[in-house]
Amino acid sequence: MRIISIANQKGGCGKTTTAVNLAAALAQTGQKVVLIDLDPQGHATLAFGYAPDHLEQTIYDSLRNPRICLYDVIQSTNVKGLVLAPSNILLSGLETDMAFVHEREFLLLQCLRSLRRGYDTCVIDCSPSLNILTLNALVASSDVIIPVQTHYYALEGLRQLLETIDVVNERFNPQLRIGGVLLTFVEDRTHLSRDVQRQMKDFFGNLVFQTVIHRNIRLAEAPSAGQSCITYDPGSKGAIEYRQLAREIGYETRTRTTQESIVYI
Ligand code: ADP
Ligand code: MG
Repeated sequence: MRIISIANQKGGCGKTTTAVNLAAALAQTGQKVVLIDLDPQGHATLAFGYAPDHLEQTIYDSLRNPRICLYDVIQSTNVKGLVLAPSNILLSGLETDMAFVHEREFLLLQCLRSLRRGYDTCVIDCSPSLNILTLNALVASSDVIIPVQTHYYALEGLRQLLETIDVVNERFNPQLRIGGVLLTFVEDRTHLSRDVQRQMKDFFGNLVFQTVIHRNIRLAEAPSAGQSCITYDPGSKGAIEYRQLAREIGYETRTRTTQESIVYI
């Protein structure tokens, strides 16, 4: 199972939108996909029409109690092949609950082991913070995708994230690599958006995905219908671009698998 974290501690840069739509687009290619909502705000949970406060069990229960298997927590979605491990506000207590637990950085990895035979890809929607939850996501992942909103302060804060990725590489998970930087909220007509795109390419080189995600109102509307944009409006620019991202990632998997550089659990 390939595990992909969608991370950037900046809020509102398109993490949840990317996690939800990439997971749905990958499932539509025939993969079996599990989406983990690792944000106590439960936005990915809401995006599939679940009310976070009315769930009997969430990812929090699995992380806290090794006897609660992720299989018991996951919920179906309206996308064939895609299931969701939901979350709610209780997840914000994990940091204090687990303050003195040995190897608390590995809780998610342990949970995911039970799923590894049933699923091809796991997509993790991270919270807007570099806390123990995000650390757990990075420790469990082979790839991290970093959505970056094309605006003036795009590079700000990225240094901190890159440092965290380095620490995870050194201390916990040498296999973690940057799967790509995804430019979001792109507006071709504005100089600012073009400048930021150039700046990101100068800084990250070919780590920047060829696919970019334009500002598209359908992406913002879809969650209110309890759906990914992939099913809400398959012909919209947002859906087309996230399907293209799924292809770009899938292609990369094939080429990298032949180089045996990818790590599966
Ligand atoms: P994050 O998870 O990083 O906080 P979200 O994915 O929730 O960011 O996006 C923030 C807001 O912007 C949400 O209301 C979302 O629907 C909207 N949004 C995300 N991507 C786009 C886009 N490409 N075009 C228009 N609206 C978007
Ligand atoms: Mg979010």
